[in-house]
Amino acid sequence: MQHVTILGSTGSIGISTLDVLQRHPEKYRVFALAANKSVEGLFEQCLQFHPAMAVMLCPQSAEKLKTKLDAAGLMIEVQSGMQALERISSTEQTDIVVAAIVGAAGLLPTLAAAKAGKRILLANKEALVMSGALLMREVQANNAVLLPVDSEHNAIWQCMPVGETQQYQFENKGIRRIILTASGGPFRDWDIADLEAVTPEQAIAHPNWSMGQKISVDSATMMNKGLEVIEAHWLFGMPSDKIEVVLHRQSIIHSMVDYLDGSVLAQMGNPDMRTPIANTLAWPERIDSGVEPLDLVKAGRLDFAAADFGRFPCLALAYQALNIGGTSTAILNAANEVAVEAFLQKQIKFTDIARIIANVLESVPATPADSLEQILSADKLAREAAQKQTKVLCNH
Ligand code: NAD
Ligand code: MG
Repeated sequence: MQHVTILGSTGSIGISTLDVLQRHPEKYRVFALAANKSVEGLFEQCLQFHPAMAVMLCPQSAEKLKTKLDAAGLMIEVQSGMQALERISSTEQTDIVVAAIVGAAGLLPTLAAAKAGKRILLANKEALVMSGALLMREVQANNAVLLPVDSEHNAIWQCMPVGETQQYQFENKGIRRIILTASGGPFRDWDIADLEAVTPEQAIAHPNWSMGQKISVDSATMMNKGLEVIEAHWLFGMPSDKIEVVLHRQSIIHSMVDYLDGSVLAQMGNPDMRTPIANTLAWPERIDSGVEPLDLVKAGRLDFAAADFGRFPCLALAYQALNIGGTSTAILNAANEVAVEAFLQKQIKFTDIARIIANVLESVPATPADSLEQILSADKLAREAAQKQTKVLCNH
């Protein structure tokens, strides 16, 4: 029996993870569930899955949850705060940690899981974007196993010459390049001139995937693909010039690996995150995920097109940050988080997101990213700079 901690259990990935787990009660037991402040969502999950612990980042929400659980007669230990998230990620009572918190908030508990040598199912790409060198170092030093849930990286990983032990360096394994596929989001066919007027409602309506708000906006700007280029760099040890992006509107091929002998391996499937979740839960075995079998005849065709950096400046900014290195990618990530939030709050325009990130990358100097202090300091400076930019743009 494997005991599972889910960080971000009330989100899109968290809910899909629980859906897979409940199909295999003989293999997995939920040890802890954690969320930010959605009391109702976490309460319902506690009723269904009876974890030993429930954690909310927000203390007031934790109080409310405790009251409700007590009233329902459920003996579940409730804690709050970042240290509690770190505890449920590193305790001996858990084997698997699903890192599905959105954004920089997921970094510390993911690091805690790495230091404790856990099997980590990584959805929280922002953790790697902020601190790839540090996180990979902790994973390797503590024999943790880091498995990619992000569908593209899960696809690449399935196409890599992986044995039964996890590896993170593939540059010299006969690989020419990694090809990340991207749907292009909801605005792939729009006139570029119309992008100024995009609303949050339009941006979060993804054509192929149902996801949280932040990653949906990232998909619309294609910053999501930019973050994924950085994520691929760290997970597979590949330089940026060997990581390419191609538009593939059907989201059936989830990514590819191009080998020196001309073989191109692709992983396909319906766009449903339960596939990579089941894959990383059971690896090296395979289990049922509940995903419908792929109907190739119904799918009919697979289209490919070049990714246009003019339409998607965020993608170019991500490559730029990766090539500068050090804390640049933490700066990129922080500026993006602030800008996306401001856009969702209708304070800035859709096209301001890229503007803000470009300005913050210019104004906040990158340093080496060897320590957590350097990374958190860059994150803080970049957030302040992005907030300043947001205020300026708000007043126009
Ligand atoms: P979501 O917004 O649906 O859910 C986020 C979860 O994190 C919620 O449970 C929320 O309570 C929790 N949370 C948010 N802020 C928190 C904080 N400060 N402290 C503790 N918990 C906090 O997001 P999602 O779509 O499930 O995405 C989660 C992560 O997975 C993101 O990093 C995203 O990029 C990545 N991812 C998602 C998908 C997808 O299909 N949804 C695909 C690939 C990667
Ligand atoms: Mg992805």
